[in-house]
Amino acid sequence: MSRDKRHDVLFESVELGPKTLRNRFWQVPHCNGAGSDRPGMQAAFRGVKAEGGWGAVFTEVCFFSHDSDITPWVGSRLIDKGDVRNLARMCDSIHEHGSLAGVELTHGSSFCLNAESRMPGRAPSQMPNEMEGMASGRAMTVGEIREAQKEHVDGALRAREAGFDLLTVFAGLATMPNYFLYPFNNKRTDEYGGSFENRCRFTVELLEMMRERIDDCAIGMRFPIDTLEAPFGYGEAGIRAEEEGVRFIERLDDLVDYWDINIGTLNWGEDAGSSRFFESNHEAPYTRHAKAASRKPVVNVGRFTDPDLMVRVINSGQCDIIGAARPSIADPFLPVKIEEGRYEDIRECIGCNICVSRWEKGGPPIWCTQNPTSGEEYRRGWHPERYAPTSRPESPIMVVGAGPAGLECAMTLGRRGYATVHLVDAADTVGGHLRWVSGLPGFGAWKRVADWRETQIKTRTEVQIELGRHLSFEDILECGAEHVIFATGSHWDGSGMSAPLHDYIAGVNAALPEVATPEQYVNDGKQMGENVLVIDNDAYYMGSAMAQLLARNGHAVTYVTYGETVGPYLRFTLEEQRMYMTLQELGCRMVAQHFVVAAQDGTAQLVHMWSGEEREVEYDSIMLVTHRMSECRLYDRLQAAPGEMESAGIRSIHLVGDAHTPGIVAQATFSGTRLAREFDTENPDLHRPFIRERRLVDATEADYRLGAETLCA
Ligand code: ADP
Ligand code: SF4
Repeated sequence: MSRDKRHDVLFESVELGPKTLRNRFWQVPHCNGAGSDRPGMQAAFRGVKAEGGWGAVFTEVCFFSHDSDITPWVGSRLIDKGDVRNLARMCDSIHEHGSLAGVELTHGSSFCLNAESRMPGRAPSQMPNEMEGMASGRAMTVGEIREAQKEHVDGALRAREAGFDLLTVFAGLATMPNYFLYPFNNKRTDEYGGSFENRCRFTVELLEMMRERIDDCAIGMRFPIDTLEAPFGYGEAGIRAEEEGVRFIERLDDLVDYWDINIGTLNWGEDAGSSRFFESNHEAPYTRHAKAASRKPVVNVGRFTDPDLMVRVINSGQCDIIGAARPSIADPFLPVKIEEGRYEDIRECIGCNICVSRWEKGGPPIWCTQNPTSGEEYRRGWHPERYAPTSRPESPIMVVGAGPAGLECAMTLGRRGYATVHLVDAADTVGGHLRWVSGLPGFGAWKRVADWRETQIKTRTEVQIELGRHLSFEDILECGAEHVIFATGSHWDGSGMSAPLHDYIAGVNAALPEVATPEQYVNDGKQMGENVLVIDNDAYYMGSAMAQLLARNGHAVTYVTYGETVGPYLRFTLEEQRMYMTLQELGCRMVAQHFVVAAQDGTAQLVHMWSGEEREVEYDSIMLVTHRMSECRLYDRLQAAPGEMESAGIRSIHLVGDAHTPGIVAQATFSGTRLAREFDTENPDLHRPFIRERRLVDATEADYRLGAETLCA
């Protein structure tokens, strides 16, 4: 298959000062939990993206000063020679594939708590930080400003020494350049505050100083062109695209080789928008203004996964370069697949923001729903496009359940060369719980998880898919497989057993006509009365999604959560604010920090989490969103019948995904691929040891691998 000619423009090179970008694909800075302290992971993670065709590949935020310390979040650092050495490995792995290595030089100013370094902060003005409670900083004198600028330049010099080609000064979110620019943060009355020119001065001087010392790297800026109105941004005390956003670009244009443009807000979920609330390219109304103000190449982001849209944004003059964080995580080989015309192979990001949530949780290694190899390139040696051939292709395997876990598992087994893999599901289509979840308001993109895997199975493997067949215990014994993998999922519990209580909610049970679980309401059509009480004892999206659906279906909804606003994990996926606003707009009555202890005859008893204060809520029906229970009965029964298994020729049985432990989809796809990738080990239920990258005394690279293979085993 060859590439559509219209997509050729994406593979044109772009001049960036002294450097040449080989195509128009640019992995913008994004965190992955590696920083410079896990150099193996960092190098392998970014190297795979370069291999997959991203012409520029960046670090996450990279700090160069001890008072720019955001511990426990994990960014990279260029503070000393050790950091230079560690990040040099990342640069090498990117250069190996002909791409440019980029760094995002960041000073977090008054946002930094400096929890590790214990340094006091520095800022344009002494103000308590708006995003990080208890953080502030000293209002710098002019001498101290000069010192801070010099530190930026020293950081850039260390970046050059490490081998970086593209030096991006980060002027967004919480950084010195934008804190000088925004009147919200800059209250100075000297030459660094007040007028627009004065508020630009810090950054103008900084770029001039960098240019004086560095002429062999491209120097650019990541700049949010608009900080939006309240409640999302700074309103008049920030900047707006058509006013100071554009003026800033015009003012600095001669000093940069490129612009990386996005939007900047108090809640960066408006930029890294979840697909539940934002379409691809939703920032265009703001970011498109940059091109007219600049003569330099402009990068835009927009969760771009569709090559036709990419071509449109280039040809329409919106930007010159396709920037991506999430699409490059979900598919590190997106550019290569477009280049080779392998459109069906593109694994599109679903915009669920699980990757983002790992950072927001404090920076543990990245997870991706669509790409379970993300973050595992070094420590487990996994590759998103390569599958180690199996040593026993003839073993017949049955996978029961074609949800995310079963699909991923069967696909990976197939790609590894297992010749007889049979994937069976009781339903008429694949997808498992995503069949109905992707029909909930805003969840359409989640279907991509199933669609991509189904296509891959059909086009790239010998796996047989059989639908519409519910397997019984006897069916399993007669199926002729040597190995049976149960990916049989989970269901929402109807018993009323509840996380906050670890006990039943008195009087509440989905067997009652007025109580329903999500599946009963959505799939079985169980009727709900006019006033519905949604009990959200789950941590993630289902409770608020049910409240949204019920309200849209015309019910009067009272939504009760033990969280502060909505399911607490939505804070980490950056969906909390939008979800809260959605329920408010729909007229839902929201009761936070409460749980329901009993409900009977239309009256529910609620208790406040902390004060213990009681209150009552009237209802006609209850939507019970408490927790999910694994569907593992077949597995358990077989495990208890070793004699029958042996006579049936079944040598092993396994549980993956929600059937083992109910979790998020990212855990299901991970679990499916993990078992399949390690299936020919002696006991594939036990994870193979993986490299734990940490300080080993007097270690060599070989010691780390030794650690994984033997010491930890
Ligand atoms: P996961 O998220 O772990 O992949 P899902 O709940 O999404 O789990 O998917 C589980 C799938 O397993 C569902 O499509 C369901 O129809 C299927 N399934 C469960 N039990 C059986 C069975 N006994 N026979 C066939 N299919 C089954
Ligand atoms: Fe996209 Fe979700 Fe993967 Fe993040 S975790 S890259 S949002 S699919």
